[in-house]
Amino acid sequence: MENWQEVLRKNSIASLDALALKFGPEHFPELDRLRQAADNFEFRISPAMVDLIKSPDDPMWRQYVPSVEELDVVDGIVDSLNEDADSPVPNITHRYPDRALFLVSPVCATYCRFCTRRRKVGDPEKIPMSQFESAFQYLEQHTEIRDVILSGGDPLLLNDRRLEAILTRLRAIPHIQIIRIGSRIPCHLPERITPELCATLKRFHPLFINTHFNHPDELTPAAVAALGMLADAGIPLGCQTVLLRGVNDTPAVMIELMHRLLMARVRPYYIYMADQVAGAEHFRTSVQTGIEIMRALRGWTSGLAIPYFVIDAPGGGGKIPILPEYVESMNEDEVVLKNFRGERYVYRQPREEAGVIEMKKPRKRAAKAPKRSPQRVPA
Ligand SMILES: *Cc1c(COP(=O)(O)O)cnc(C)c1O
Repeated sequence: MENWQEVLRKNSIASLDALALKFGPEHFPELDRLRQAADNFEFRISPAMVDLIKSPDDPMWRQYVPSVEELDVVDGIVDSLNEDADSPVPNITHRYPDRALFLVSPVCATYCRFCTRRRKVGDPEKIPMSQFESAFQYLEQHTEIRDVILSGGDPLLLNDRRLEAILTRLRAIPHIQIIRIGSRIPCHLPERITPELCATLKRFHPLFINTHFNHPDELTPAAVAALGMLADAGIPLGCQTVLLRGVNDTPAVMIELMHRLLMARVRPYYIYMADQVAGAEHFRTSVQTGIEIMRALRGWTSGLAIPYFVIDAPGGGGKIPILPEYVESMNEDEVVLKNFRGERYVYRQPREEAGVIEMKKPRKRAAKAPKRSPQRVPA
């Protein structure tokens, strides 16, 4: 057993009793109802995150400690993004024309209470490689797929040998140009980022990692060191943050998070609205909150610190970008714009008709989009 596996097994908190012992039973008055929440969805807090929890309901506590609020199922949906409908074979979600999601691990070091894919995680720890055969065959047969995103669960909880086997098989597919890994491990279990792992990963370039940090305090010295090792292995790092009530729903916290990420050589990639997932209603903010945060970023700080703000459309519509309104009006002659300070500027359109026509003509659809009729708002 590798050191990080031992750290995870021995020093994590994985039961409510251990939790009450660590933080004091007085913080868990409704232990019986809480057990229900912990039974509904996998529970484990890795050592690095246990260390970050300072007081009840602080941003770390909120993300990782089960809450009776999880039992309030409002209009949440089990598979809110309709990923299973876009799954042609087990472990593959193919929603976009040229890229696909490949779920390679059902486990995480720490389980986020707001998890979108909670229906998937916590399945048996060891999936035999033969169970991925139909997924590999799908990726081999679909030559339009040029970008494969390993996800889960957390792909970096697989051991080096298993990861290497998966990456080797993917790299043998000529049309796969890039491989991405989505992982919270640099945050949750920095011990897992070893020189051996980095040496393995760098053999499979171009390989990108999108990690997931939600609060500036999560960029601990250990996490920053882990990110540095990955960056030194030539891996471009991005971050997918989720906007969460009581965690990062103010401009000040979000700006600090973006700055700390850049200093750790991570380029912010997405801020997501929290999904409408069953049991996670208490994490949701209004869309306006997100828009105000984006307004507080653009112009006021480095463009590098500004990710796309997206809503992953419920029902499987994919990620839709949301912008504060910067275009006040637009016609064939001019566009009236508002800058980040709210000042008005006019951009004159080119006189040639070509420019106007180009703007008006609907663009041709991408050639190989998966067949599906465009759906309007599912009621
Ligand atoms: C997010 C996502 C992707 C990747 O989207 P990008 O915008 O390219 O990062 C691919 N497939 C599915 C199903 C996704 O949810």
